[in-house]
Amino acid sequence: MIDFFNQYFFLSKKCFDWCFREVKWLLFSIEGACQHSGHCCRSITICYDGSYVTSVSRFNDLCRKDSVLSRFSPVSNNDTIEYFDCRCLTDNNICSEYESRPLFCVQYPDNIMLSDAVLHRGCGYFITQRFSLPFFSSNNLKYNISVFKFNNSVKF
Ligand code: SF4
Ligand code: SF4
Repeated sequence: MIDFFNQYFFLSKKCFDWCFREVKWLLFSIEGACQHSGHCCRSITICYDGSYVTSVSRFNDLCRKDSVLSRFSPVSNNDTIEYFDCRCLTDNNICSEYESRPLFCVQYPDNIMLSDAVLHRGCGYFITQRFSLPFFSSNNLKYNISVFKFNNSVKF
C-alpha cells in the first residue's frame, strides 16, 4: 500500500517538489553565521522566472524591467554569460546596498531549502541533519535527499 502511494503520489512533479521542500525543512537545519567571505556575491548564477540567465540580451531586458538586477555585472564569453559579480560588494566584503538588496540575497541561505540552490563554497553557514528519512520513503526521495546532502556537505 505504501509503495502504491509512493509510486502514484510522486508521479506528479509538483507533488514531489512540494514534498521534497517540506522534507528538507523537517530533516535539516541551517546553522552558522556569515563570515563575510563574499562568495555569495561573486561568480554567481542568477535564476529568474525559473530559468538561469545565460544570455546578455535577456539580462539587458531583465535589467530594464527590474532595475535591481543592474547591480550585477555579467562575465560572458560572446553572448553567453558564465557568471555575475555584484558591484555592491565592497573591498572588505560588505554589501554597500544592504537595505535594497534583491530578494534572493535577503533569502540566502534559507533559499537552499526552497530551491535547487546550494550553499556557497566556504560559506559561514552550514547544514546539519536532525532526522533520517523513514524506511517507507520512495527511492526517488531518498536519491534526491542524498544529492542534497552531497551538494551541501551536510553534517550529522
Ligand atoms: S557566502 Fe556565506 S559567509 Fe560568505 S558572505 Fe555569503 S553568507 Fe556570508
Ligand atoms: S546586493 Fe549585496 S548581498 Fe546581494 S550580491 Fe550584491 S553585495 Fe551581495
